[in-house]
Amino acid sequence: MDQSFLIKPMLDAQYPIIDYGKGIYLYDTEGKKYLDAASGAVTANIGHGVEEIIEAMHEQAKRISFVYRSQFTSEAAEKLARKIAENTTGDLNWCFFVNSGSEATETAMKIAIQYWQEKGIHTKTKVLSRWMSYHGITLGALSMSGHTGRRARFVPLLEDFPVIHPPYCYRCPYNREAPDCGYLCANELETVIRRIGAQQIAAFIAEPVIGAAGGAVTPPKDYYKVIKEICERNGILFIADEVMTGFGRTGTMLACEHWDVEPDIVALGKGMGAGYAPIAAALVSDKIMEPILVGSKTIMSGHTLSANPQSCAVSLAVLEYLEKNQIIQEVESKSKYLREKLERLKEQFTFIGDIRGKGLLIGLEFIKKDTDKKEPFPRELQATQKIVALAQDNGLLLYPAGAGMDGINGDAILLAPPLTITTVEMDELITLLSQTFKQFEEEEL
Ligand code: PMP
Repeated sequence: MDQSFLIKPMLDAQYPIIDYGKGIYLYDTEGKKYLDAASGAVTANIGHGVEEIIEAMHEQAKRISFVYRSQFTSEAAEKLARKIAENTTGDLNWCFFVNSGSEATETAMKIAIQYWQEKGIHTKTKVLSRWMSYHGITLGALSMSGHTGRRARFVPLLEDFPVIHPPYCYRCPYNREAPDCGYLCANELETVIRRIGAQQIAAFIAEPVIGAAGGAVTPPKDYYKVIKEICERNGILFIADEVMTGFGRTGTMLACEHWDVEPDIVALGKGMGAGYAPIAAALVSDKIMEPILVGSKTIMSGHTLSANPQSCAVSLAVLEYLEKNQIIQEVESKSKYLREKLERLKEQFTFIGDIRGKGLLIGLEFIKKDTDKKEPFPRELQATQKIVALAQDNGLLLYPAGAGMDGINGDAILLAPPLTITTVEMDELITLLSQTFKQFEEEEL
């Protein structure tokens, strides 16, 4: 190909050129087929080329794709907001549409701050978070993100919002085991709140299952109960970043449902448009909207393309498709099937240290072979990158995760295939993964 002027993630790498996608498979222009075990970046939740979505896009495009939200509302945006409210628990009834996960978490942050201002409290402006987390790449979202690698270059511009350890039971910072640990990592929040002062803190934000930064790090049973109690006791809002977990990824519409915890604000993204259109949202509870509705009656945020009818029509069609085909209801049994097969791989490949996650958001952490000390691979080995590259050669796409906490959990991948994956396709995924692990073992260990 001629000289490229496209800024790609790695400027010295060769990327295959995509031709088309069908279901869970992608095909490049050389005719190579890939099984997408990562849904891109945990996004293509219903697979590619779904006729119903293409039709909905087409129908909406024939009517109108864009209007400015200060001038018009649209049937698509209104219906989508209503349908999301109907499909989520509690009083999460209001939607602010944006275009990316970073915008969603940053909007959530701003709404939390505004909520306190509407109540006459102007000191509550910090949004605390955890280490080993990722909430987005814009400066506000990055300020909340406890991902040392992604923060490094911009540290002088960022707020110090990551303040507590994650619920990373595989390598518990306290060397304890849940549930007898007393949820020390959750209780850290109370200590930090006392130190900083609740009067300065607007909210606490967390990913229900830690995705990119941790590799599907999943909390023990009562973790969120403890977190929510601490937030309530101290007058601090709880924001759930469900950009990766929302819209059915873990087997429920929102992952928070697994722990029976109701956030005040939720950030949604990725699966909302399932890759067919850029759309994300801050989902806001009645409680938070109340003082805003009687106060300034507007939210001080927004983007030109917020709530554009085109993206809203796509997301509505995605939600209808999930419903009509009972896709979310089948996630748990698919997860069980895949996890059983993965457990067998773990017996065979002893460099798989941990298998974790919820629903079809599954993490594998890698450790030095045959150690019972959970010793990570040396960083120079670049184990994750090598596994991901070998898999891609074999026609299997994986999501590299981990390295979110000073490299302590250096090597991990996410397995997050489209929720529509069939049993036969899961078998194929496992065969390709097994082949990849065998090669990695033979070539690198
Ligand atoms: N929050 C979470 C939990 C995410 O996983 C991501 C993306 N990986 C984001 C926020 C940022 O989303 P986006 O890349 O769409 O800005």
